[in-house]
Amino acid sequence: YQLCYRDVRQIMEESVTLLETQAIMHNIEIRLMMAAEPLYVFGVENQIKQVFINVIKNAIEAMASGGLIRISLELAQKAQIVIRIQDEGPGIAKEQLSKIGQPFYTTKDRGTGLGLMVTYKIVDNHLGSIKADSIMGQGTTFIIQLPYRKDPEEN
Ligand code: ADP
Ligand code: MG
Repeated sequence: YQLCYRDVRQIMEESVTLLETQAIMHNIEIRLMMAAEPLYVFGVENQIKQVFINVIKNAIEAMASGGLIRISLELAQKAQIVIRIQDEGPGIAKEQLSKIGQPFYTTKDRGTGLGLMVTYKIVDNHLGSIKADSIMGQGTTFIIQLPYRKDPEEN
C-alpha cells in the first residue's frame, strides 16, 4: 500500500469520472460541489477511491428512474473534511439503516452486500466516520468525514 497525502477533491473527480457513463445511461446527473482549496487526506488513495465508488454506485442503483446525485466536499470544524453524497432514491427504512454495512446484507437480486462493509472498514482505517441519513420517498445522504492533514511538503 502506498500511504500518501492526496487532495481528496482529485480522488472524488476520478471516482465520478469512472461512473459517469453508467450514470448517464440511467438518466442520472452527478453534480459536484467542491471547496476551492485543496482538501488533503493521508491514506491509501485507491482505498479512498473505492469508498467513493461504492457509495456513488449504490446511489445510481437506487435511482431506477433517474435524477440528480449531489456530491459536496468541504472543510469543516476541527480539521474534518466532510463529504456528502445525496441521492433521490427511495430511501432506506429506519429498521434497515442499522443493517446496511453488515456482511451480505443486500436488497438487490444480484447484490453482494459487501460494498458498504468494505466501505465502512476503509473509512474506519483512515480514522474517519460514515453515516447514512435517509428520508423515505426523498432519498439518502451518506456523510463521510475524514481527517484533514496538511501536506507537510507544501511550504
Ligand atoms: P449491494 O450494493 O451489493 O446490495 P452494499 O453493501 O453496497 O451491497 O449495500 C447494501 C444495501 O444497502 C443495499 O442492498 C441497499 O439495500 C442499501 N443501500 C445502500 N445504499 C443505498 C442508497 N443510496 N439508497 C437506498 N438503499 C441503499
Ligand atoms: Mg453496493
